[in-house]
Amino acid sequence: MSDCLFCSIVQGNIDSKPAGENDLAFAFYDIAPVAPVHILIVPKKHIVNASTFEPADAAILSGMITLSQDLAQEHNLNDRGYRLVFNVGSDAGNTVDHLHMHLLGGRRLGWPPG
Ligand code: AMP
Ligand code: ZN
Repeated sequence: MSDCLFCSIVQGNIDSKPAGENDLAFAFYDIAPVAPVHILIVPKKHIVNASTFEPADAAILSGMITLSQDLAQEHNLNDRGYRLVFNVGSDAGNTVDHLHMHLLGGRRLGWPPG
């Protein structure tokens, strides 16, 4: 989608700090990190958010999770743990309408979220 920020990042038309990728997903460092490790994992295909995700795209979700596993390993998060988050809609503070999974780690994360 040409006017989508994260599509533009995936396509390299807007700069990001890449963190990794596989066939279906791309990862880059969040521009405003809220934890020592804060990476966004997005599908290369434009999908709006988790509420519009369709079962036919199951392989994409698998690709996103697999990439998160690679990144958790790379950032030595497996022993201490980490959090994967999908925000959906305004109550969750969702600001970008391209599906993205936050990978947060490197500090103790509070629960419930504020
Ligand atoms: P959400 O609130 O779940 O929609 O998350 C959107 C995230 O995208 C926020 O954590 C932002 O800091 C992050 N973000 C927005 N623009 C950029 C950008 N150009 N590069 C990297 N991260 C971004
Ligand atoms: Zn997009």
